[in-house]
Amino acid sequence: MDELLEPLTKGDRRALSRAITLVESTRPDHRDRAQALIGALPDRQALRIGLSGTPGVGKSTFIEAFGTRLTEQGLRVAVLAVDPSSARSGGSILGDKTRMELLSRNPSAFIRPTPSSAQLGGVARRTREAIRLCEAAGHDVILIETVGVGQSETLVADMTDLFVLLLAPAGGDELQGVKRGIMEMADLILVNKADGELMSAARRTVADYAGALRLLRKRPQDPEGFPQALPVSAATGAGLDEAWDRMRQLFDWRRDHGHFDRIRAQQARHWFLAELRAGLLAQLDAPDARARIDDLGQSVAAGDIAPGIAAQQVLDWLGARE
Ligand code: GDP
Repeated sequence: MDELLEPLTKGDRRALSRAITLVESTRPDHRDRAQALIGALPDRQALRIGLSGTPGVGKSTFIEAFGTRLTEQGLRVAVLAVDPSSARSGGSILGDKTRMELLSRNPSAFIRPTPSSAQLGGVARRTREAIRLCEAAGHDVILIETVGVGQSETLVADMTDLFVLLLAPAGGDELQGVKRGIMEMADLILVNKADGELMSAARRTVADYAGALRLLRKRPQDPEGFPQALPVSAATGAGLDEAWDRMRQLFDWRRDHGHFDRIRAQQARHWFLAELRAGLLAQLDAPDARARIDDLGQSVAAGDIAPGIAAQQVLDWLGARE
């Protein structure tokens, strides 16, 4: 049994941190240990909430205020981040703990910065495994933050129970160029900064999105009235309790109607296939496979062997190994 298992399941933060470091590692012996640890985790379920929004919209302010409220209700909260841009820039959206100063000192909260050296391909697996670890450590709510760019939303939506899109009040009546696909993923749209001078702009933005959401096809996993848009202020705390109520409402409804388990099962199957594909591609990348593929590629180019036959030879060779 792994020495981290017991302290981890008792909620020891250091053990949780170390376990996450372990699943982040790509060293083969670490991978083996991580797999064994993941396999031995007790089955505990937290509510997994994905939170997306472009930089500056108020994600860290929101998580700080919202997370603190949840801990005041006796819930244990974990915060993880998916930031594909950090893989390129070396920066990290959660690297700076001062972004969530209160929450990072809160004994009922656990904040994990994105590793700045994460490889893009490994981000999904690392985050999914970190989610499992946080669940096993007894966290009730796991917030997974991501920046509003590229593929990261889909990735996060595919590993969470609820997907929340955080927006800022728009100047005019335009829909801020939010891609339709991202809007379709959102269970809840929260228009932040609904305070002070921005209040009326926020109300207008909420109305715009409420209208746009009504035009979307109703999804089987939604009760009447969802997805919906709400105004919040991370700064003053206004609307945060209501946002949590709506999340609970959606969560309870889905659980009672079998959608919660169905969606998790679907996600598990999705990630199984993704891992399988990644594993096969990695095999093609191994040095001996590459050499063989290069040789066969030359033969194919020279017209000595048909592409399909060459491909089959590689697959047969891979299958025959070990
Ligand atoms: P992030 O980049 O999405 O994490 O955004 P931050 O949480 O760092 O916030 C960006 C800026 O917006 C900061 O200057 C915050 O003080 C400000 N901000 C965040 N939430 C609110 C809010 O509810 N109301 C107002 N007026 N400003 C906010």
